[in-house]
Amino acid sequence: MTGFCEAIKIMPGMPKILIVDDQPANLLVMESLLEGVGAMLITATSGEQALSLLLEHDFALILLDVQMPGMDGFETASLLRGRKQTKHLPIIFVTAISKEDEHVFKAYQAGAVDYLFKPINPYILRSKVEIFLQLDHQQRLLAKKSVELDLKVRELLGVKAQLEEANARLNELSLTDALTGLSNRRCFQETIQAEWRRAMRNRHPLTLLLGDIDSFKQFNDNFGHLVGDECLVRIAEVIRSPLMRPSDLVARFGGEEFVILLPETDLEGGRHLAETIRREVEKMRISHPESATGLQLTMSFGVSSVVPRPDISEQDLVCAADKALYVAKESGRNRVQIQGPEALLGTLGQTGYISGDEGGAE
Ligand code: GH3
Ligand code: MG
Ligand code: MG
Repeated sequence: MTGFCEAIKIMPGMPKILIVDDQPANLLVMESLLEGVGAMLITATSGEQALSLLLEHDFALILLDVQMPGMDGFETASLLRGRKQTKHLPIIFVTAISKEDEHVFKAYQAGAVDYLFKPINPYILRSKVEIFLQLDHQQRLLAKKSVELDLKVRELLGVKAQLEEANARLNELSLTDALTGLSNRRCFQETIQAEWRRAMRNRHPLTLLLGDIDSFKQFNDNFGHLVGDECLVRIAEVIRSPLMRPSDLVARFGGEEFVILLPETDLEGGRHLAETIRREVEKMRISHPESATGLQLTMSFGVSSVVPRPDISEQDLVCAADKALYVAKESGRNRVQIQGPEALLGTLGQTGYISGDEGGAE
């Protein structure tokens, strides 16, 4: 018998049953009847001892004698029910006193889940105890599974967050030009479509600048591709800097071409910005292979603007800026050429004025 004051040998994983009876002889009988039931049997000879043991151990079941001196079975059960940790612990009352309904009812009220009468029928005792041990086993399995599930859910949530972060990063990369860090052409296409629709709804002008580095092939051929790359990065920084509004978009359109989309900006606003950038690039004084005569690296710009309408598309705006850029190149480079809405709407063709070295509009 393992009594209250004796050292208790704990076998990990084995369920424990607490047997409480003020008669040591009864405890011995119960222990022998439950031998080999698959649980560690711990005994107490009073309600007070039982409560102390409950503080130390996690029991699967209590077999509780009703009649005990001091704290009786009913009182012990009521205290157990009042404590959070033992609230749901199954209690089987063991009593010899009465089989009357009223008495049984009182036991159930005190928190009993079952009832056994002395003299104990060994078969009934074992059957009942085995059922409660099975229940305890199932509950522990469930609790273990629930912890495992919780861990899995947390793990999955972590993986999900990582995936979302990776996706966001991938998305950002898929919209960014690797060399200059500007938006790429794909991002530009997505943005211009959205801005076109927005400008059409709000009847606001949408302005586009297409800028191209002049005679860059010669620059590359002479100084090498790597120097050309560095030059593209520096020019990208200059193009980005005067743009203040978050809705403005600067993108690398291709090789040495850059595009700037300006929502809610008219042609004059676009021309002014293009002229500012053109001058800033000129001021960088990046020497050009053909600069024996003091020639620096320069840029040409085509600017187009329109209040979007359903009978034209954003591609018409791009084409108009491209045409203007072509004119700027044909007219000698290092200049800004504008294309007003008339050109887009196909009524007036190429018009506008040229600014820069020869255009001199600024
Ligand atoms: P234009 O004034 O008419 O624009 O003359 P261009 O020489 O600039 O134009 P062209 O279209 O003949 O050549 C563009 C050159 O830009 C070709 C290529 O060497 C260079 N280029 C394009 N993309 C890159 C790039 O990513 N890095 C470098 N270093 N050079 C590039
Ligand atoms: Mg060029
Ligand atoms: Mg080009």
